[in-house]
Amino acid sequence: IKKIAVLTSGGDAPGMNPCIRAVVRTAIYHKLEVVGIRQGYQGLIDNNMYDMSPRSVSNILDLGGTILKTARCLPFRTDEGMEIAYNNLKAQGIDALVVIGGDGTFTGALRFSKKYPDIAVMGVPGTIDNDLCGTDYTLGFDTATNTVIEALDKIRDTADAHDRLFFIEVMGRDSGCIALRAGISCGAEAILLPEKETAIHELIEGLKAGEHNKKSSSIVIVAEGDKHGGAYDVAQMVKEEVKNYDVKVTILGHLQRGGSPSAFDRILGSRLGYAAVLGLLNGETQKMAGLKGNSVRLTSLEEALKVHEYKLEEDLMQMVEILSI
Ligand code: ATP
Repeated sequence: IKKIAVLTSGGDAPGMNPCIRAVVRTAIYHKLEVVGIRQGYQGLIDNNMYDMSPRSVSNILDLGGTILKTARCLPFRTDEGMEIAYNNLKAQGIDALVVIGGDGTFTGALRFSKKYPDIAVMGVPGTIDNDLCGTDYTLGFDTATNTVIEALDKIRDTADAHDRLFFIEVMGRDSGCIALRAGISCGAEAILLPEKETAIHELIEGLKAGEHNKKSSSIVIVAEGDKHGGAYDVAQMVKEEVKNYDVKVTILGHLQRGGSPSAFDRILGSRLGYAAVLGLLNGETQKMAGLKGNSVRLTSLEEALKVHEYKLEEDLMQMVEILSI
């Protein structure tokens, strides 16, 4: 390969910038030309690209978001859109593509690569949801979890001062990974997860036991993918039964996506960006660079997309109940 392009796509995630930096510098070190594509697949279709140098990625390690911008792009889902993208890449002499994003991004990359195998593709998992197979962690998950923890610590202060019961909704789509880890870190009294059925009557019993045990505050985390609806719905179902608490709801929302990447996400982004380029240089394609047991591994995009096989750790889920008595 001679010329590679890099893009970020889907939801932004802290750690994308360190990854872009690693891709650009590793590629240039190995005498490749590098093109940055703005706004994900939309930029491929709109020919929104620019040549990058080592200086294009100076001082971005600490930045949240993505300097390449990201987008959700409907036309790339069509054969016509893909053809335009392909022609634009060919016109620039680009023969390899690094895509940083989540499952939708990889689904698009795999389809594209099967249609046009002369352009090698390599994925890097960039999503706060941590919902991909083939990697223990995705970029942004650690930072987002730390952001949630910071918010929960503050909420605990006010909850405690007023004998309040808080229902906090956190992001993660169909994955309860952020909810579970943030909940353990902040001593949540209960965590409602998409991966685990929790009956409302059990939740109420647990909260009543907390009242009985003289807990001055309670925090219930509701993962956004939880089947009961959302934090407001759960609060409504529980309110009448726990009269000693003043019930409040907070939806943390998009603040969870922002912020300077944690040390973990900077290192992960650097490592996976570096590995993605080395993989392409070794002739690999249709793979994702991920971290398994602190080793970088390449997994086929097909494997990485088996999201339904991703499981939360049973022991962590069981531990929550015991540690919150
Ligand atoms: P996150 O997990 O943060 O939401 P994501 O990568 O899953 O990230 P999506 O919006 O689902 O985010 O996907 C990003 C882009 O990938 C889409 O906007 C679209 O351009 C492309 N894409 C998704 N699915 C397909 C598909 N089946 N075929 C072609 N392209 C697709």
